[in-house]
Amino acid sequence: MLVVMKHGASQAEIDAVVEVIEEMGYEARPMPGAQRTAVGLVGNDGRVDSSRIEALAGVAQVIHVTQPYKQVSREWRPENTVVTIAPGVHVGGNEVVLMAGPCSVESEEQILAAARAVRAAGAACLRGGAFKPRSSPYAFQGLGKRGLELLALARQETGLAVVTEAMDESGAELVAEYADCIQIGARNMQNYSLLRFVGGLGKPVLLKRGMAATISDLLLSAEYILAAGNPNVILCERGVRTFDTAARNMFDLTAIPIVQGLSHLPIVADPSHGTGIRDKVTPMARAAVAAGAHGILVEVHPNPERALSDGAQSLYPEQFAQLVQELRAIAAAIGRTLTPAPGTVPVAVG
Ligand code: PEP
Ligand code: MN
Repeated sequence: MLVVMKHGASQAEIDAVVEVIEEMGYEARPMPGAQRTAVGLVGNDGRVDSSRIEALAGVAQVIHVTQPYKQVSREWRPENTVVTIAPGVHVGGNEVVLMAGPCSVESEEQILAAARAVRAAGAACLRGGAFKPRSSPYAFQGLGKRGLELLALARQETGLAVVTEAMDESGAELVAEYADCIQIGARNMQNYSLLRFVGGLGKPVLLKRGMAATISDLLLSAEYILAAGNPNVILCERGVRTFDTAARNMFDLTAIPIVQGLSHLPIVADPSHGTGIRDKVTPMARAAVAAGAHGILVEVHPNPERALSDGAQSLYPEQFAQLVQELRAIAAAIGRTLTPAPGTVPVAVG
C-alpha cells in the first residue's frame, strides 16, 4: 500500500503517517519524490484498514498496489529507478550501458586482454564469472576467489566497473567485496534465501531471468531484494527455454517493454545466453537496444575457440568493436547515447 502525501505536506504530517503505519505493525518507507512524497507500507497489507490513514492530515490518496509485487511496481514508483554501479555508470537513465567480457575468468592474461579489448571498443563494465553455475559438476567451475582478484586487477588497470556472479551466500559476501555489481544467475533467480541475503549486502544486484520464469516471477524475485532493503536492482532478459531447439534459448525481446511498463527498475538484455550462437548475438543486441534496453550484457573472449565456457556464443573482440559502433547509431536514432568507456570522451554520431 502506498500513501501519497499532498503536494507541500509538512514533515510533521509525514511523520504522523509513519507513526500510524508502525503502530499498525508494518514497516513505513517514506519516499521523497520530485512531485510529491509518498510513504510505502511494507508487508502483507491484505488486511489493512486504510480509512485510518486516509483521514490523516496531509494525505492525498491511498493506493492499493494491484500487482503481487509491490515495491518493484510502477504503481509504487512512477519514475524510473537509475542504478549507479560506479561513478559515471548509471543504468536506467538515458544512457545505454555496455557490459562485456568473457563468460568465465580463466587467467590473468585472458581477463586483462578481454578487459582492454572491451574498454577500447567502448564498454563501461567488465563482466566475467569467478563462480560458475555449470550443468555438469565436471565442467570448469570458475577460479573462485582468485577470479575475483583478477577482476579487481582488470578494474584497476582499465577503470571498468565489474559485474560478476554469486552462487551462494558465502560466495556473495566475497563477491560484494570485489565487485561493483553482484550478478544473480538464471539458475538462482528463485533462490529466495540468496535473494534476501544479497538484498542486505548494499551492492547493486543484476538479476537474470530464470530459464522458465514468467515476467511476474522475475519481478517477484526482484521484490525479495527490495524488501530486504536494497532498491538497486537491474533486471536482465537472457532468454527462456521453449520447445524450439534452433537456438540455445528463446530471447524474449518483448520482455523489455513489458517490464518497463510494469516496473520502474532498469532492464538490460543478454543476447549471448539469449541465443547461444555467436553470429546471432549481434542482430539481437541491435534489436535489444532498439527495443529500449537500458544496457547490454555480452560475452566477448580474446580467443573464443579456447574458452573454458560459452566459447560458441562469445564474440571476437573485433566483432564487439563493430557492434558498439552499430549500437551507438541505433541508440542515437531513439534519442539515447552509450555510456562512454572510463576515461574517454563521448563519441558523437552523425
Ligand atoms: C552468465 O552470465 O555467464 C550465466 C551463467 O548466465 P545465465 O545465468 O543467464 O545462464
Ligand atoms: Mn556464460
